[in-house]
Amino acid sequence: MAKTNISGWGNFPKANAVVERPDSEQTVRNLQQSHGIHIPRGAGRSYGDSSLSAAILESSKLTETLSFDAETGIFTCQSGKMLNTILDEIVPKGYFLPVTPGTKFITIGGAIAADIHGKNHHVDGCFSQHVLWLKLMMADGSVKKCSRTENTELFWATCGGMGLTGFILEASFQLKKIETSKIVNRTIKCENLDEVISNLLEHENYTYSVAWIDCGTSGKNLGRSLLYLGEHAKKEQVSNDDLSSYKTPSPIVSLPFNLPNWTLNKWTVKAFNALYYGKVRKKDSTAIVGFEPYFYPLDIANNWNRLYGSNGFAQYQFVIPMEGAREGMNSIMQEIVKSGESSFLAVLKLFGEQNQGWLSFPKRGLQLALDFPINKKSLELMNRLDDMVMAMDGRSYLAKDSRMKREFFESSYPKLPRFKQLLSEIDPNGKFRSLQSDRLGITTN
Ligand SMILES: Cc1cc2nc3c(=O)[nH]c(=O)nc-3n(C[C@H](O)[C@H](O)[C@H](O)COP(=O)(O)OP(=O)(O)OC[C@H]3O[C@@H](n4cnc5c(N)ncnc54)[C@H](O)[C@@H]3O)c2cc1C
Repeated sequence: MAKTNISGWGNFPKANAVVERPDSEQTVRNLQQSHGIHIPRGAGRSYGDSSLSAAILESSKLTETLSFDAETGIFTCQSGKMLNTILDEIVPKGYFLPVTPGTKFITIGGAIAADIHGKNHHVDGCFSQHVLWLKLMMADGSVKKCSRTENTELFWATCGGMGLTGFILEASFQLKKIETSKIVNRTIKCENLDEVISNLLEHENYTYSVAWIDCGTSGKNLGRSLLYLGEHAKKEQVSNDDLSSYKTPSPIVSLPFNLPNWTLNKWTVKAFNALYYGKVRKKDSTAIVGFEPYFYPLDIANNWNRLYGSNGFAQYQFVIPMEGAREGMNSIMQEIVKSGESSFLAVLKLFGEQNQGWLSFPKRGLQLALDFPINKKSLELMNRLDDMVMAMDGRSYLAKDSRMKREFFESSYPKLPRFKQLLSEIDPNGKFRSLQSDRLGITTN
């Protein structure tokens, strides 16, 4: 069988694997049985090794919409359906995704398996909280329908379970109503970390909030930021908005090859950050913007991950509990500045309460996501950050992980023993396995 070089969005690590693209329930079953060890994959937008294994079953041919009720806003589709194609169908009918990540190029299977969160976690929770049911093909080839009332344990193990409980075939979920395709975006310029955290907490009543942080500053400007607060615009706030003709735009730029590994260095990142922060002049301003630039600013560039060069990059995304979050974030930012490693992208968000997903990432607190090019110094820094976050009772996100310390993972997901016990019952021969699950000891290599 032909093998392909393949990786996640961070291009680290890389694997050489057989990639299969089943086009029906029966072919998923046949391929699962013929390959033995394998992992499902959606669009490969998770950063690390969660969708890598000896064999990969990619959902790119399972993209049908099964039903869309424009009265109730209930949408049902196969797991390989991408969010951008869902938006094309639902926005013209006055609906939006209940939870969306920072890119629309992911699948519903990936959204459920990682239990994704968006800028509205403190209000609407994770994606799983809007899922009505899902159909899962188990290791023995049987198909189980799972929901909050049917096969409940399997449902909550699968939401956030990173493809280890089975292959999600279909799912049904509740959409949210919108009146326009615009967002009322309020931007608050914050001079340091303390100010942005105060503003995030003070404005918790906004549906959407996210802060972009300049990681290149220190001293009294450590963590200076732009905080973006948002609400879906009402009809009376917008003129000339025609929802019915909405179509998601395609990326307008494309990086055809990897740039040299040094392209994003301390100086280029510092210069970019200073320009980005400087472009906002007013302390507090409000504008009506399209939801595309608000939710998906990075989607205008195809393959922007190639900016980091052939060595790839890692996203370090963690959450720490609210008690002690100010001091915690401050010491972490100081450690990053001291290391000399700059993050091109640094995003701070507020999380609401944890849901019932056994390995679901968000819990009440502050989360920060940082991108680092892969090199010896950044890997050492991330190991130190693991120790710091662990001491603060925080945790890191599996969908972004490619190198987490195992003891950190084990100590931060309290339902892990229960998850492993369930896997030993539903998949006793360990067929569903990723490089990540073996590396972190969720499955045994
Ligand atoms: C630019 C960018 C911004 C992002 N922003 C956010 C954000 O704001 N919030 C957030 O939560 N995440 C965010 N992400 C991460 C992304 O949403 C998740 O990693 C998501 O899981 C990717 O979906 P995918 O379809 O690409 O799945 P993949 O990356 O292919 O797979 C991810 C996991 O899902 C499993 N999986 C995929 N399909 C199935 C299936 N059919 N059945 C069972 N398991 C399956 C895989 O085994 C794997 O463990 C972002 C990623 C990028 C690149």
